[in-house]
Amino acid sequence: MVAAKKRFIAGAVCPRCGAMDRVVMYTDDEKRYRECVSCGFSDEVRLHEPGRELETRVNRTPEERREAVRPVRILDPRDPPDDQ
Ligand SMILES: [Zn+2]
Repeated sequence: MVAAKKRFIAGAVCPRCGAMDRVVMYTDDEKRYRECVSCGFSDEVRLHEPGRELETRVNRTPEERREAVRPVRILDPRDPPDDQ
C-alpha cells in the first residue's frame, strides 16, 4: 500500500456535488487521482498521455543571451589614487 500524499486543490470544485476546496489530489507513478472528501467522488487521470508537448518552451530569450555576453564591469580608472 502506497502512502500517497494527498493535498487539497485550492479553489477546485467537485464536479459531482459542487463543493469547493473539498477535492484532494494525489499521484502515483502513472495516474493522478482526484477525490472529493465531501461526497466520495473520485476520478483518475493518466499522466503520461501520448503527444503531450509541454517541453517545447524556449529556454533563452534574447535578453538572457545579452546578459550572458555582457562583459565584466571594469573599475573606473579615474578613481582618485590613495593619498600617500
Ligand atoms: Zn463532491
